[in-house]
Amino acid sequence: MSYNVTLLPGDGIGPEVSEAMRKCVDATGIEINWDVQSVGEHAIKECGTPLPDRVLESIRKNKVAIKGPIVTPVGTGFRSINVQLRQALDLYACVRPAKYYEGTKAVNHNVDLVIFRENTEDLYAGIEFELGADETKKLIDDINNLQPGKIRDDAAISIKPISVTGTRRIVKYAFEYAVKNNRKKISAVHKANIMKFTDGLFLHEAREVAKEYEGRVEFQDVIVDNMCMQLVQRPEAYDVLVLPNLYGDIVSDLCAGLVGGLGIAPGANIGEDIALFEPVHGSAPKYAGKNKVNPTATILSAVLMLRYLNEIDAADKLEQAVADVIKEGKDVTYDLKENRDDPTAVGTQEMAEAICGRLKGE
Ligand code: NAD
Repeated sequence: MSYNVTLLPGDGIGPEVSEAMRKCVDATGIEINWDVQSVGEHAIKECGTPLPDRVLESIRKNKVAIKGPIVTPVGTGFRSINVQLRQALDLYACVRPAKYYEGTKAVNHNVDLVIFRENTEDLYAGIEFELGADETKKLIDDINNLQPGKIRDDAAISIKPISVTGTRRIVKYAFEYAVKNNRKKISAVHKANIMKFTDGLFLHEAREVAKEYEGRVEFQDVIVDNMCMQLVQRPEAYDVLVLPNLYGDIVSDLCAGLVGGLGIAPGANIGEDIALFEPVHGSAPKYAGKNKVNPTATILSAVLMLRYLNEIDAADKLEQAVADVIKEGKDVTYDLKENRDDPTAVGTQEMAEAICGRLKGE
C-alpha cells in the first residue's frame, strides 16, 4: 500500500530536517508519494503569499501532511502560518509526547508524558486589538461601561475565547488516547482560580468528560504554575496532560527541555480526518543551511505519522533506530554530544543516514 503525504519543508532549518526525515521514512520501506509544497518565505518569493491556496488544497486532498518549521516575524502584520494552518484545517488536537531516550542530556530520566494542547482557541484565536485603533478605543469604552475602570485607555487587547465545544473535544481526544494506549492518568491543567469563566469552563467540561471514563482512567486537575514546578521536580508523577492552547504551548516546551531539548521533541496536529505532523522547534535561522541541527524531532514526528497511518511495525522500528543511534552517541549532532563543541559531532544528514543504516540492519 502507498500513501500520499503533503510535505512542507518550511523555512530556516526546515528543508534540512525534512530531507533527513524523508530519507528515514523511505528507508522503512513504507511507500510514500511525497507531495512537496512551498510555504513561508519560499512561497512568498515564488508567489507573493506565505500560504498559497494550493497548500491547503493539497493537505485537504491527501489528509496527511508533515512539515518543517515556518518563520513568524514578531510584531508585524504577518499572522503565523502555523496558527493559520491549524485553524483553517480545524486541527484541534496538538499532541506532543515528551519521552526520555538514553543518551540524551535529559534533566530527568523518568519522563514519559503525552501532552494534549487545544489548538484552535484561547489567546491564539487571533482576536487582537491594536493600541490606539478606533475599534480598540470603542471596545475599551464598551468594556469600561460594563465593568467600570477595568481597562486603561492606552491598552492593547487580546481576546481569550474558551468554548464548551473546543474543550470537550480536546479532553475527549486525550481520554480516548489514554484508553487506547493504556495510559493511567489524565491531568487537566488550568488557572481557574483566577480566570473563573474561561479556565473555569475548561475545568468544568474536563470534569464532565472525565466522568464518562471513571474506573478506566484516573483524573485530576492541577493549576498551571504548580504544574510547572511539579514537572521539574517529579515528572514521573504525571502521565497524560490536557491543556488550553497557551499553557499547552509553554508546558510542552518545558517538557521538551526536561527530556533533552527541542532537537528531539516531536508533535502532531490532529483534526477529524486530517493530520499534520511537525517538530516542536522553530526555524533556528542561525543554523539554516549549515547541516548542523538535530533531525530527531522531525524524524520522531514521522514516527507519529506512521502510527497514525497504522504502520505500527515501521513506526516502532524507526523509533528504535533513532533510540539506538542516540544511545550509541557516535553519529549524533552537536546538541546530543556531552560538549557542544565536540568535533566528532556529525551533521543533520549524516545522523539521518546512521538511522537509515540501523533500519537496514547495517
Ligand atoms: P527555534 O526553535 O527556532 O530555535 C531556538 C533554539 O533552539 C535554536 O537557536 C537552537 O539552539 C535550538 N534548536 C531548535 N531546533 C533545533 C534542532 N533541530 N537541533 C538542535 N537545536 C535546535 O526558536 P526561535 O528562535 O524562537 O524561533 C525561530 C523562528 O521559528 C520564529 O520565526 C518562530 O516564529 C518560528 N517557529 C516556528 C514554529 C513552527 O513552525 N511550528 C515553532 C516555533 C517557532
